[in-house]
Amino acid sequence: MIAPATVQVVRDAIRTRARSAADVCREALNRIEALDPQLHAFNTVVAERALARAEAIDRDRSRWRDAPLAGVPVALKDNLCTRAVRTTASSRILDTFVPPYSATVVERLETAGAVIVGKTNCDEFAMGSSNENSAFGPVRNPWAIDRIPGGSSGGSAASVAAGIVPLALGSDTGGSIRQPAALCGIIGLKPTYGRVSRYGLIAFGSSLDQIGPMTRTAHDAALALSVLAGADPADATSAPEPVPDYVAALTGDVRGARIGVPRRLLEQGVDGEVTRAIDAALDTLESRGATLVDVDLPHARYAIPVYYLVATAEASSNLARYDGVRYGFRANEPDLRAMYVRTRAQGFGAEVKRRIMLGTYVLSAGYYDAYYLKAQQVRTLILRDYDRAFERVDVVAMPTSPTPAFPIGERVSDPLQMYLADIFTVSANLAGLPAISVPCGFTASRLPVGLQLTGRRFDEATLLRIADAYERDTEWSKQLPPIASR
Ligand code: GLN
Repeated sequence: MIAPATVQVVRDAIRTRARSAADVCREALNRIEALDPQLHAFNTVVAERALARAEAIDRDRSRWRDAPLAGVPVALKDNLCTRAVRTTASSRILDTFVPPYSATVVERLETAGAVIVGKTNCDEFAMGSSNENSAFGPVRNPWAIDRIPGGSSGGSAASVAAGIVPLALGSDTGGSIRQPAALCGIIGLKPTYGRVSRYGLIAFGSSLDQIGPMTRTAHDAALALSVLAGADPADATSAPEPVPDYVAALTGDVRGARIGVPRRLLEQGVDGEVTRAIDAALDTLESRGATLVDVDLPHARYAIPVYYLVATAEASSNLARYDGVRYGFRANEPDLRAMYVRTRAQGFGAEVKRRIMLGTYVLSAGYYDAYYLKAQQVRTLILRDYDRAFERVDVVAMPTSPTPAFPIGERVSDPLQMYLADIFTVSANLAGLPAISVPCGFTASRLPVGLQLTGRRFDEATLLRIADAYERDTEWSKQLPPIASR
């Protein structure tokens, strides 16, 4: 097997005709065949569609010569709609759903020359932090097959970490791109709310959801974001701000960058090995000319309850549409009302039901003011904390996840414990800010650790610049899990 390459290397090899797109595509499909029986990262593989498309690119090279992703194999989280390709959100209720249209991000990738090879496993409707909530069974972490890859975009993270594809898309409502990226040792970028169109993303929490790239390098994330970002008439919340050249922002220089560190927030509940890796990463950045500044985010400790009130409220509303009439699975029941009830009872998994019930509860008359409204108010306070911090610093640094990947099964019976895994990721979504997870070390047992950087609205360029400079200086992102070299 050939060692996994980056987007840049694959694309350039195809541009210079060192390799054909069909050859690259076959290699990705072979790796799926060899590795996926263990990883379970894919719900659907579209081998024929992918090969046909790669061959079409090879036949018409001149047309694709300048396309930024020509011939690059890509995996998509299975909550992104793909025309004529089954899209399940890893839920039984959608396991036969074939969308009549593609998400805007899918159209943009294909216009840029990408070759979609398959749809990746995830937590059901993107609800989870471990991928154990998938109706089709968990994904396994390429670094330790008995551990979770993180969630909810676990299949996308595992497929990049294992060298199956150099680029996968995930969605991030409260950390689902960054946390699995951290636990699998790759880059994961959640863009600013509105930076990337959500059209065709199966909605979870509409005021929180964003789609973003998962890659081996910051350069590849910059390249992918340049393709994905921009206003979209089909998504009224997509932002009109011009899209900068993110690749050009990668100067390799962090001199003068001011990095805020919310020490007080990091005092408790962070695994010792994670703390050591983060501190070492911050030292490296400081030695290269960045300045570390203490910042305070006094309301960040309320982020988990606020997130789980807002996200469940929005989810309960978004998931009302799955009634057995319009999409996918329908329970066999002659009476209409009974059909609704049975479809939802059989189609949704336990975590999704828990969230629908929580969300319905917090929105109900009598509880709305005490829970939902209060949560929205604290959400504003969290946003203001960041605004204040960004008066003094360019980015805020913390761990992406308080612990490395945990063993499959360890937290399934304790949802609250599972929710606590999201402590450092959810505030970026609540505040609508961009955030990136960058590989920054390993534990003694070779589990990856990720450093999270959160930036100002629409300042993905600074996140990518610091991530890229750090990466050039360190070896973490060049390491591969044993399974990838098999
Ligand atoms: N782990 C968080 C949750 O369970 C975030 C999920 C996500 O970002 N989609 O809601």
